[in-house]
Amino acid sequence: MDVYIRSDHIEKLSLKMNVDIRYIKVAPFFLNCDYFYSQSGNTTQVKWVMPIGIAAKRRRTGLQYCPRCLIEDEHTPYYRKHWRLGFITACIHHAIQLLDRCPNCNHPISLKRLQKAPEAIIYHPIDIVYCAKCNFDLRCAQSKSACVEEMKINQINSSQYANGYGSAGNQEFQYSNLYFEGIRRLLSFLICNPKGQKLCSYLKETIKPYHTYVNKPLVKHLEPELMAVEHRRLGFLMIYYFLQDWPNRFVDSCKASATTTTQLYSPYLSYPFWIADTIRFSLKTLPPIVAKQEKDAIKHYLSKKLDRSIKDYETAKFLKKWLVK
Ligand SMILES: [Zn+2]
Ligand SMILES: [Zn+2]
Repeated sequence: MDVYIRSDHIEKLSLKMNVDIRYIKVAPFFLNCDYFYSQSGNTTQVKWVMPIGIAAKRRRTGLQYCPRCLIEDEHTPYYRKHWRLGFITACIHHAIQLLDRCPNCNHPISLKRLQKAPEAIIYHPIDIVYCAKCNFDLRCAQSKSACVEEMKINQINSSQYANGYGSAGNQEFQYSNLYFEGIRRLLSFLICNPKGQKLCSYLKETIKPYHTYVNKPLVKHLEPELMAVEHRRLGFLMIYYFLQDWPNRFVDSCKASATTTTQLYSPYLSYPFWIADTIRFSLKTLPPIVAKQEKDAIKHYLSKKLDRSIKDYETAKFLKKWLVK
């Protein structure tokens, strides 16, 4: 219900709870996602919002949480709304990494999985801090501090989400949508695309403090909101590195890892201009333009040297060999 509520249900809820309709409308992501996802068509899904419930069970992703926030909630702990967002990986207040699994049994956190004996059907607010699988108290999970870079990218993501615009590294975004679309493409490429693995491995080696993070195996073709928090964290640290000097760092890293425009680009996906321009214009090594007179001169020279007529493709071959890197 925090993702989508049908409009007739909103009215019913408003009547039953005696709450103004405006207050209910601010709750679901579907009606409040303009800053990070522009909906098209009739889908009720919202990109970046991590699924819970049945879908989560199948895909094995869980609710994210900050153990320290849950401790501070004392008797009425609750899961923050922004913990549902795939572009958040750390707690801004405590500067620690969010978790999405039970540290004891490694099961994804899911409120739907609360198993209770029939006689104990009434839930207590405190129940939500216990792992539904093994009953571990999630407040006891060891907290791991988030590095400066992770905090920075989380701050950028939060402010883009809250304001609908803002700066990210050396880039200014008038519309946060363009920012989120771009980092979505980069994250998918780095973490879920086999063609992105050269770039990912190169970055792990190059940006030294980051490579200590995880070495989780590659997951193929997952939407960012379905990725485990460790994967998103790794991808965002790399994206943060790029954003400090966009597009230079990105272009240099692609070139160093032999990642080409063709590997990066997919005709089935849409790219915001700041990514598209970089892929098309900054990364591509265009062959030098050779004037017709030059070609003719080469042709003439070769035919004189070899004492035979030279075909056009031979000139082209010669030019490619000598002029294109
Ligand atoms: Zn916290
Ligand atoms: Zn557990």
